[in-house]
Amino acid sequence: MVRQFFVGGNTKMQVTFNSLNDIIENLNKADLDDKTEKVLAVPSIYLSEAKNRLNPSIAVSAQNVYGKNTGAFTGEIAPTQLKDFDIKWTLTGHSERRHIFKENDDDVAMRTKGALNEQLNVIFCIGEKLEERESGKTKEVVQHQLNSLNKDISKEEWSKIVIAYEPVWAIGTGKVATPEIAQEAHKDIRQWLTTNLGQDAADSVRVIYGGSVSHTNCGDLAKQPDIDGFLVGGASVKPEFVHIINANQ
Ligand code: PEP
Repeated sequence: MVRQFFVGGNTKMQVTFNSLNDIIENLNKADLDDKTEKVLAVPSIYLSEAKNRLNPSIAVSAQNVYGKNTGAFTGEIAPTQLKDFDIKWTLTGHSERRHIFKENDDDVAMRTKGALNEQLNVIFCIGEKLEERESGKTKEVVQHQLNSLNKDISKEEWSKIVIAYEPVWAIGTGKVATPEIAQEAHKDIRQWLTTNLGQDAADSVRVIYGGSVSHTNCGDLAKQPDIDGFLVGGASVKPEFVHIINANQ
């Protein structure tokens, strides 16, 4: 099975109303690979504006979501509230949520499950910290993150998920994983999919790479057999994002 190449942009909290509109204008006039699936994650206050202005070939995503649809959860956004604005995607488990805001594997699973209950698509982010890689624990950490979600969701629900492997040491640091290191981690994730969900899921679930992807390194990363695209942070708010979207051409 050929997995459709996927590029997500994560603008984090790096945009203003005006700069996001410039990014949208730039994307709308660019010649983008129509074979690549494209998603842009924006701060929640701009979701509606982005949805209204962005070329519909680029889906709009939330950067996080809560696992419940209503209740006393100040500051959170419900899956049904995203649906109210026709937002079909969300990130969950981004490393900044895990490490700055202390969301643990169970919190991330709860949020992801809540999104899936409302048929949202999820870019589910996982990845190890530098000390975990250096102590040889990458596989263990990543598998724990995958298992924590797998215990709560059905095999069918994995079809709504794109797994973003984002080693924490590579996010926003300029230290991109080499294509070989990234490929090895993606291959291990693919193996986990085979063992836990079967060959069909392993063949169809996309595993994308994130961590200092730029216009200079995206080409070599895209050639790796188990890398199905990218989640792009810093470069997603720059004109080079267009080049990264077209990396698989
Ligand atoms: C991210 O925020 O998901 C990310 C990968 O950031 P950066 O590309 O800046 O490393």
